[in-house]
Amino acid sequence: QKADLKKYQACEAFTADRKRIRVLCNIMDTSMAEKSLKYSADGIGLFRTEFLYMDKPRLPSEAEQVAVYRSLAVNWKGKPVTIRTIDIGGDKPVESLHLEAEKNAFLGYRAIRICLDRPEIFLIQLRAILRASAFGNVQIMFPMISNISELQQAKSILEEAKKQLRAENQPFNEKIPIGMMVEIPSTAILSDKFAALVDFFSIGSNDLTQYVLAADRTNQKVASIYNHLDPGVLRLIELTIRNSREAGIPCSLCGEMAGDPLALSLLIGFGLEKFSVNPGRIPLIRNLLSLIDFKRAQTVADQALKQSSSKGVADLVNGTLSKEY
Ligand code: PEP
Ligand code: MG
Repeated sequence: QKADLKKYQACEAFTADRKRIRVLCNIMDTSMAEKSLKYSADGIGLFRTEFLYMDKPRLPSEAEQVAVYRSLAVNWKGKPVTIRTIDIGGDKPVESLHLEAEKNAFLGYRAIRICLDRPEIFLIQLRAILRASAFGNVQIMFPMISNISELQQAKSILEEAKKQLRAENQPFNEKIPIGMMVEIPSTAILSDKFAALVDFFSIGSNDLTQYVLAADRTNQKVASIYNHLDPGVLRLIELTIRNSREAGIPCSLCGEMAGDPLALSLLIGFGLEKFSVNPGRIPLIRNLLSLIDFKRAQTVADQALKQSSSKGVADLVNGTLSKEY
């Protein structure tokens, strides 16, 4: 049933039984942000800032970064603008950092690990994000956190950036929300502990799936193993959502899974109320959401958690909810 998506280009998202769902956007640059604004997205759920660093002869300066972040903060007029600190390494090389090639790039020196090791680079980005926070609803998000110590170190470098700006009389939001990606299995398992230390979670289902199943997300040879409907992946996602709810912090999901019709109904059933998707998907997601009944989705999601394979989950969802699509 391909409804006319025009209807969903500029409206709020609700389930069939009128539960309000937030649909935010994933962006890599300002043109994607503009497209999402046209679709009146509920905010920017993920700005992949590493794209400001890639394919450039040098690292972007603080002023260059402030200009980009500030324009988003201003244009989005109070809607959340979630800026993720650089997630480089893995499949995202940055020439100007001269990183050595690694045998196990996805398990190696990447993202927050590089930032904590090179605080002089990290501080420039943190200062830029903080300075932009004076102009709108800017939130900061750390990628690839694997343990509590990393989160604490990242937060303490953020404190250092705040201290510097205070000393320079640069305005910024003292209460800027601090969130983290839940995309490494240990953080999902310990999400009750992490929830006490951050203002929000965003589940990175792309990496979470690859790490739970030990299947490289870019390797076609293991693509059949890489499946976000695997019950092992689903149980960790459900646990993370439950722990965020118990701690009273918002939780979104910003991986490709948010755009998968089969997964969408399960995520709604787990109680997720916030999704972040590629701009072009926004109308379709709103359309799909409007066909999902929250109460029924809860029943199916409970059953999905009891399945023993991704096929069992897919058959279950195909046989029930998807009739409504
Ligand atoms: C993810 O891992 O799901 C995610 C959204 O981040 P990225 O795809 O940039 O790693
Ligand atoms: Mg990721």
